[in-house]
Amino acid sequence: MPQAARSSSDASLKIYFRLLRYLRPFIGLFLVSLFGYVIFASAQPMLAVILKYFVDGLATPTGVMPYELPLIGGVQLMYGVPILMIVIIAWQGFGSYLGNYYLARVSLGLIHDLRRALFDSLLKLPNRYFDQNNSGHLISRITYNVTMVTGAATDAIKIVIREGLSVIFLFGYLLWTNWKLTLVLVGVLPIIGLMVNNASRRFRKQARKIQAAMGDLTHIASETIQGYRVVRSFGGEDYEAERFAKASEENTAKQLRMAKTSSTFTPALQFVTYSSMSVILFLVLFLRGDASPGELVAYITAAGMLPKPIRQLSEVNETIQRGLAGAESIFAQLDEQPERNQGAIEREQITGRLEVRHLNFTYPGSEQPVLQDINFIAEPGQMVALVGRSGSGKSTLANLIPRFYHHEQGQILLDGVEIQDYTLKNLRRHIALVTQQVSLFNDTIANNIAYGDLASLPLERIEQAARAANAAEFIDRLPQGYDTLIGENGVMLSGGQRQRLAIARAILKDAPLLILDEATSSLDTESERHIQAALESATFDRTTLVIAHRLSTIEKADLILVMDQGRIVERGAHAELLPRNGPYARLHALQFAEADGDDDDKGVAEASPATP
Ligand code: ATP
Ligand code: MG
Repeated sequence: MPQAARSSSDASLKIYFRLLRYLRPFIGLFLVSLFGYVIFASAQPMLAVILKYFVDGLATPTGVMPYELPLIGGVQLMYGVPILMIVIIAWQGFGSYLGNYYLARVSLGLIHDLRRALFDSLLKLPNRYFDQNNSGHLISRITYNVTMVTGAATDAIKIVIREGLSVIFLFGYLLWTNWKLTLVLVGVLPIIGLMVNNASRRFRKQARKIQAAMGDLTHIASETIQGYRVVRSFGGEDYEAERFAKASEENTAKQLRMAKTSSTFTPALQFVTYSSMSVILFLVLFLRGDASPGELVAYITAAGMLPKPIRQLSEVNETIQRGLAGAESIFAQLDEQPERNQGAIEREQITGRLEVRHLNFTYPGSEQPVLQDINFIAEPGQMVALVGRSGSGKSTLANLIPRFYHHEQGQILLDGVEIQDYTLKNLRRHIALVTQQVSLFNDTIANNIAYGDLASLPLERIEQAARAANAAEFIDRLPQGYDTLIGENGVMLSGGQRQRLAIARAILKDAPLLILDEATSSLDTESERHIQAALESATFDRTTLVIAHRLSTIEKADLILVMDQGRIVERGAHAELLPRNGPYARLHALQFAEADGDDDDKGVAEASPATP
């Protein structure tokens, strides 16, 4: 057990030092801020001393300050005390400004650096990482963890320095004015501190529990808001209403408990504080020695200023631990292996000959092979189609070609070169990909078509691509044409329109190898015709790998591969395959039956899966 505790604290230290390394560029700013906090802390005992002069002044207002000013000489207490007060507060304020502002610059700079490091790592991480981590966590790491971490790196340091120095200065003052009394207090104060600490910790624990219950409420509400269509069409209203009412009731009850706790907490805490104060008052009167009233007031004031910094110091560990937990997950992400990119070959131009030899593939972390012994050749300009049941491995095969996943067995050759021998950037330059789930950005139509490397292309080229993708007709009808904003992931477009935009993007890229993973969603006959026309111009004159859910799309393919459970179970052209009465003919027959139903009642077709 001690062993485990030591190693975990070793690990925390390591994380902390690594975090401090990120502070290095800000060391100058940091020193300025430290200097500010020294000023701030030095003002603490000065404020107590002022009270001494004030009380002395009550007795004899015309008495003279013990220190002479350079030009004026001795100053009467009546004037000296107020002036000194203003000077000290200004001095403290100056220190506070330097400390807080410069520390904010440090911590905001740190946040910026960490955020960027995280985001940059996201751009390089392999697909596997995104499969295994949910996007909510990845996002909250960037937005939330980073802030928590800077709490540990800067706020903790701020407290240690500012409050630590305050304690030292105040305590020094106490010892200096009455060391006997101070030593007695040292025995008593920690006990009081412990009592107060204990009470407030218990209170906070309860508060945290209540906070978690609030989360449930938000969660239920947001689920219903997002899924309102499902809620209404499946008659979930009563269920949701009840669920929400229950959560809300629970919330109310917990809030009430919180109110109860806090209303008992404050008086209880005050009772503890004032009881201890009475002990101190007794001690002060008992041990006063020959101190003047002013000195005693200053003494009590300084002693009263002590608990706050001490409490903050005792809580700093919590801030640090929370920050370290955040840092741990940040560093874990930064330490992830980036996408494998060991190839060195770069080709300016390729012909687009694709050959797959004895390819096997299993997703990392799973046992079940998804692809087994895949072999085929697509000559330059040819169209190869993949068909087969849902889950047979078609998209997986498509994802291996741009190296979204790494294959261990078999070969994928592009122009006779294993794809892993190309640099990633160069390989992907030669491939245009339309994925099964179309991704669009909250931007204009034009910027969505001309995305990334294509951004510099002129508008004529974009329009040309849109025409080829059969998208120009609907774009022209939009109020702002190519400048229309399409909303988050293109919510303002229909499924078919989104697909055509994705195809336009691929056409604009004009790469020698085109991979099209057709969306599974049912399209009406009209959009299907549009997509079909788009495909025809897209596939013209380049090597194409099409994954088709509608067999009508691929009747002209040079080679059709029928996949089942990761294997190619039949291959050939449409005209050869159909009379063979094999798997392809069966798929075909099924779709015809479905298409007939389609004409009678679209609703039925939509509810049934596009592929058996
Ligand atoms: P569909 O026609 O429905 O698009 P598909 O033929 O494209 O299906 P794939 O997406 O290639 O099928 O999936 C093949 C198998 O691999 C499925 O059993 C699926 O569960 C599994 N699979 C897909 N993606 C992953 C992944 N990222 N990690 C692990 N397993 C996966
Ligand atoms: Mg798929």
